[in-house]
Amino acid sequence: MDPDFLIFTPGPVKMPEIVLAEGAKQLPYFRTKQFSKIITECNRMLKKSVNAPSGSECIFLSASGTGAMDAVIANLFGKTDSVLTINSGTFGKRFCEILDFYSIKNEEILVKSGSSITYDHLCSVPVRTKTALLINGHETSTGALHDIKMVGEICHKNKLLYIVDAISMYLADSIDMQKQNIDVLILSSQKGLALPPGLSIVILSKSAQNLLQSVNLRSYYFDFNKYLSNLIAGQTPFTPPISIILQLYKRLIQIDEMGGADELIKNTEMVANYFRDKIKGLPLKIYAEHPSNALTALTPLDNKNAKEIVLDFERLYNIYLCPNGGNLEKTVFRVSHLGDINIPYTEKLIEKMKLYYRMS
Ligand SMILES: *Cc1c(COP(=O)(O)O)cnc(C)c1O
Repeated sequence: MDPDFLIFTPGPVKMPEIVLAEGAKQLPYFRTKQFSKIITECNRMLKKSVNAPSGSECIFLSASGTGAMDAVIANLFGKTDSVLTINSGTFGKRFCEILDFYSIKNEEILVKSGSSITYDHLCSVPVRTKTALLINGHETSTGALHDIKMVGEICHKNKLLYIVDAISMYLADSIDMQKQNIDVLILSSQKGLALPPGLSIVILSKSAQNLLQSVNLRSYYFDFNKYLSNLIAGQTPFTPPISIILQLYKRLIQIDEMGGADELIKNTEMVANYFRDKIKGLPLKIYAEHPSNALTALTPLDNKNAKEIVLDFERLYNIYLCPNGGNLEKTVFRVSHLGDINIPYTEKLIEKMKLYYRMS
């Protein structure tokens, strides 16, 4: 593979030099005071970056994001639960599948592909009879961003546990657990954090932690109680992905030095807007009604096959765009703005997009 490829996929994303350099080092043993300090610092900085309510804690899991989605459901829900899900694409559907897998009663609100949940959608179901609501803040398969504050207010009013998969909106769109009434937040290493895949993080509020005792847990490895009791000493129950945790630590310090999560979000927003503005003359339409800053999902207007475009960019320009699966395979492809991406890097893609459309 030509090492000079450009990458615009929503995970993995372009990683900063500081993350790459950290990944090249010999790993230390992890049951040490020094490593405990790093876990403790990561816990503190992550919570600060999303304004987690006091008493919240991070669970560090050796798993991709779906592992964390699975673990959250296994740890927090039981027979007496009735869960509402928002299905606006692949990731929303995944929540439904996991709930079905564990035989947890659930009802989905189906949102039109490319659209975001509305207040009226939520009024169409008996919210008050539910115990929890699951949402993917940004539905990565369509680029649609949901109004997680509006949904949070409804959850708060109706006393629903509010769980947000913020995996692809973290560091791209604003998250504030306190202002948005979020009880559980799910993050993953390979998106906005711009780390290798393999680490996912669940931030549990105190009220979510209090529910752990009441569930008949059907997982040995993903037992949140084990993670919480180990965290007191800055440890994880099993071998963590040491390299990614060390990279996370370096990355969180870097984000702090850049002015915090808000500055990174502003930068991602600026790059996304720049890209969307510059491609205006091309035969492409933005798919989402309310797009996230994280990525732009595009539909070809000239009957070109979206999957073919992705393959052409790889072959002609050594640029990796992101194809879609399922029924959007032929009609939608995605350009991510996550990670260590700036305007000059994005400009290289824009140039090739203009070239591509003049040539063909
Ligand atoms: C990427 C992503 C996930 C996790 O996918 P994995 O492949 O398991 O890392 C979950 N939810 C959303 C919204 C995502 O974008």
